[in-house]
This record gives sequence, structure tokens and C-alpha cells, in this order.
Amino acid sequence: TAFVVRLKRQAPSKLFCSSAPDGNNKPPSMLRHLTSKIKATGPIPVAEYMREVLTNPVKGYYVRNNMLGPEGDFITSPEISQIFGELIGVWIISEWMGAGQPKQLQLVELGPGKGSLASDVIRVFSQLQSVLGGASVSLHLVEVSPALSLLQAQNLTGNRSQEADAEDDLVYRRGETEAGLPVSWYRRLDDVPTGFSIFVAHEFFDALPIHKFQRTEKGWREVLVDIDPEKPDTLRFVVAPAPTLASTSLVQADEKRDHVEVSAEGGVIVQQLARRIIEDGGAALIIDYGHNGTKTDTFRGFKGHQLHDVLASPGSADLTADVDFNYLRRMAGGGVACLGPVTQNTFLKNMGIDTRMQILLRNCSDPSTRKQLISSYNMLTNPAKMGERFHFFSLLHPSRLAKPQKPQGLKLEKKKSPAPLPVAGFTELKFA
Ligand code: SAH
Repeated sequence: TAFVVRLKRQAPSKLFCSSAPDGNNKPPSMLRHLTSKIKATGPIPVAEYMREVLTNPVKGYYVRNNMLGPEGDFITSPEISQIFGELIGVWIISEWMGAGQPKQLQLVELGPGKGSLASDVIRVFSQLQSVLGGASVSLHLVEVSPALSLLQAQNLTGNRSQEADAEDDLVYRRGETEAGLPVSWYRRLDDVPTGFSIFVAHEFFDALPIHKFQRTEKGWREVLVDIDPEKPDTLRFVVAPAPTLASTSLVQADEKRDHVEVSAEGGVIVQQLARRIIEDGGAALIIDYGHNGTKTDTFRGFKGHQLHDVLASPGSADLTADVDFNYLRRMAGGGVACLGPVTQNTFLKNMGIDTRMQILLRNCSDPSTRKQLISSYNMLTNPAKMGERFHFFSLLHPSRLAKPQKPQGLKLEKKKSPAPLPVAGFTELKFA
């Protein structure tokens, strides 16, 4: 999860503080943890390295307590402008309508960060209460980091949340928003109750562990992380001498590239999303930087808005890899409909960001706020900034894209079954 931007610092703090420098000569604990693991079991797959560094329950980058602060390692769209989350809120309501306005609407967010996106979505829900009518709405957050879950609870519920009973091993925190909307926290998507749901994952899939594979003369080999024999407290990449289970199962037979990255974990989560959407209805919106199965080596680290060597001082920097949308589409299978990826610029324009900006600017006379509005709009949509780097990809119930049925049988029956509403964001807005 990372995107390097150099913005003038805005008032609220951005995500994550880099760790304080270690005050002694011992290698930092994450490095010690990894080197003893490697000494015990041999070189580890990049996926295991990434999982340990990011989400180790004690020392992981996302889990650590001291990582939140005014100076962060990266900045994300929902933190740049509230318009981003508001338009996603409109998208969610539009998909709920497209599904025939079911009585229950679960909003499920994977990796909610500071909770800003969810809070902007919920504000739209309350503004469009008349549209949502009597639907009972609930918010479900999938978050591994205890530190971030507390921050989310603070932002979304104030002090109206508490740790769940120890017997309840699925939900670890519960609360409600000021408007009384129930909020629950889970460690894994599997723990979220079934039911009609709209899933949102912003900069979540890029943080999931990837396996790396290298084409060699002897065939595909997995890239592993090992201790450098010449420098004991330094890690290095090595190529596995023989095939591994991952290298034989995760590389496509007709793969053309010489180096590939595969997030098996991302694949499993997409399969779970697809199954839920097919069985219970709903949609998923996956937003991230990525490619369509064309890129090779995208694994990188970010610290203090700068690129950072992925193997240096592990745990002090964010690790990320571009999302392979082709792979996600393949893992989603044929049962769900997939739309996109389309660029962030296209999606936001289709969702009416320009109109929303005009309204905000019309109602705002303070020059510095106006300047800020314009610069954040530019950051989100400019192709040279986030506009073309980020992509929107959606999984939908197949009925959402079904072609209208031709009238069959009796000629008297003139009515066609209506075409489904177009999916907002992925098609151009037209005002009739
Ligand atoms: N969506 C937010 C935050 C992105 S950072 C934003 O765009 O601002 C990635 C988020 O995913 C963090 O909240 C992190 O703690 C969470 N996360 C990372 N790996 C996870 C995993 N395996 N399961 C659940 N949450 C995870």
C-alpha cells in the first residue's frame, strides 16, 4: 500500500509513522525474528517474508503500535479528499438499487486504514436516507491491526465501541455510529456474516503477500529470502535450487514473462468474494494500482514517502506489489461478472466528480480551502498523478449485466424484461 506523493501537509495526520531508530546495536527485532526463522528452516518464500513483515501479530508493520503519527509513509485517496469516499458511497447505493433494493445492506470494507473511506460513505448514506428508505444497513470491517482498528473505532463511533466478549472469536470489537448504524470488526473475511453485501477494498490487495518466480534454464523457480553469508545481519534474495509447491502450482503453463509475482492470498480472497456474491447477492469494488498480467518485478518498499529497499530494516517500511487484475479475474471464475479495471480518472469522472467539485466550489469562498479542493481534485484525477495509476475493478452478480430477455411465446406479450441499470462508474454518465 503505497503511493509516493509530495503534498503540502494538510491538517489531519496521514497514515503511519516510520519506526523510531533503534537505540542499541542489536539488529531490530523483526530482523532478528526473520534471521532465526531462516536459520531454523532455510530460506523463506517472499510471500512468507511479506506476511511476517506486514502482519506478524506482534511486530508487523501494520500491527505495531508506534506506526501511527503525524508523519506517514504514504498517502491514500480517501485521505486526500472526502469526495473520493462520497462517490464510492453513491456507487454502493446505486448497486443496491440495481439489485432491487434488498432489505438488508452489509457494507464490508477490507483493510479500512483510518476509517476515512467508510466514514465518508456513511455520511452519504445518511444524506440519502430517503433513497435507502427502510433498508437496514450495517458496517463490517476486516482489519488485522489492533492499533488501526482502535483508530477506525474512534473515527467511526467516537467512544461508542467496545472489545467483544472473549467467547465471540469472530467479532473482536463492536460499536455503533452516531446515527446508530452497527459496526463490527473481524480479522478475516471468512468471519463476516453472509447476506447481501457490498465489499470495498481500497489499497488492500497490494498489501497481500506475493510469491515471486524466476524463469531459469531449468524451468520456473521460486525466489526466496535468505541471510547473506558475508553479512550476517543482511538479507538477500536467492533462487530456489529446485521447484517448490508454489512454483509448480502458481505459474501459468503458457506464461510469457521471465519473472512473475502471484498473490495466492489475493486469489483466495477474490474466490471468497465471488462465492458470496453469487450466493447472497451484492458486489465488490477493488481499487488499487496494478496491471493486467503484464508487469514483472513490482515488489517495493516505502518509508517516509520514499522508495525503500524491501529487504532493509524489515518492519520499518511498508511493502507492496502491484495487483495483477488478470489473475484476480481468473480466480473470480465464471460465476460472477467482472467489470474493469478502468482508471481512477475514468471512474471518478463517470461518477460525476466534476459536478460535485463545481457544487463544492460554488459553496466555498475561502481562497485557501478552494485551493485545497482544486489541488486534491487534481491529485486524484490527473493522469500523471493518481488518475491513471489506480484502477477500479468490480465483481458483480451475473444478473447485473444480463442482456434483456427477448419476449418469447405469445405475441400478445409485448413487454421485454427490462435491461438492468447500467453499473455506475464503469460507463459514461449520460443525462437524458
Ligand atoms: N484502505 C485504507 C488503508 C490502506 S492500508 C486506505 O486506503 O487509506 C492497508 C490496510 O489493510 C490497513 O488497514 C492494514 O492494516 C490492512 N491489512 C493489511 N493486510 C491485511 C490482512 N491480511 N487482513 C486484513 N487487513 C489487512
